[in-house]
Amino acid sequence: MSIRTPVRLINARRTVEGGGFVVRRPFPTPELPLFDPFLLLDEMGPVDYAAGQAVGAPDHPHRGFETVTYLLDGEFEHEDSAGNRGKLNPGDIQWMTAGRGVVHSEMPSARVRQEGGRVHGFQLWVNLPSRDKMTAPRYQDVSAAQLPVASTPDGRTTVKVIAGEALGVAARVETRTPIVYFDVLLRPGGNVLLPSPAAFNAAVYVFEGTVRVGGERDVEEGTFVLLGDGDTIALACAADAKSPARMLVLGGEPLNEPVARYGPFVMNTEAEIHQAIADYQSGHFGGIAR
Ligand code: MN
Repeated sequence: MSIRTPVRLINARRTVEGGGFVVRRPFPTPELPLFDPFLLLDEMGPVDYAAGQAVGAPDHPHRGFETVTYLLDGEFEHEDSAGNRGKLNPGDIQWMTAGRGVVHSEMPSARVRQEGGRVHGFQLWVNLPSRDKMTAPRYQDVSAAQLPVASTPDGRTTVKVIAGEALGVAARVETRTPIVYFDVLLRPGGNVLLPSPAAFNAAVYVFEGTVRVGGERDVEEGTFVLLGDGDTIALACAADAKSPARMLVLGGEPLNEPVARYGPFVMNTEAEIHQAIADYQSGHFGGIAR
């Protein structure tokens, strides 16, 4: 066993996205443009909206990658150009393979928009390999009740397995390339070792509390920790910590392919980006029927 240790710490910036919602974005940033095979991680909120103030991302297209929405608090409504619609509640996952293209909207629910309330969650963009960029769009929805959860025998550590496998518990979602995505909760005194194949890029994003990463470094919330070589991730919360620590663990086999990106389109070449824009502008992605 070889423990991965932190090689780089990145402070997630607060930035304003889409229709005006505040996100903490560990990447892409000038310091970290890409975390192959991942393209973007946004922490949406946490934000407490007053009545009439909640905003989201109205109709917009995607092509060439997957968007993964994981809601912790609030409610989101989703609609797309293929006629799909649905609602995300706390703890729910929507894994959308945009493939050759969808137009969708992602908005706080009508109730949250009218009455206000807390919104907190994550959106992760997973790149598709060249061979899958023009695949048919697909949704994999996993409700909070269906999301596989693993725990350590002492009960101090809980791992929600969004993708991959942890502590013998496998995810429900199928990924196009080998990926892990965990939501880890460490109560004071809790610790866990998670397998992280040597071929993966690996990182931890701390979004609550303080975590000891790799047995050597205490990392505060709002920090994205790139890990070095190894095959195991070691996470711990101090026994005298005042509160639990929460973090996302991300890892995946790098695609090592050229990335051409323009807003909501991520392809391999500039020519493919121009094609995506042309296809969108000429209506090939369709629109949302209302
Ligand atoms: Mn979107």
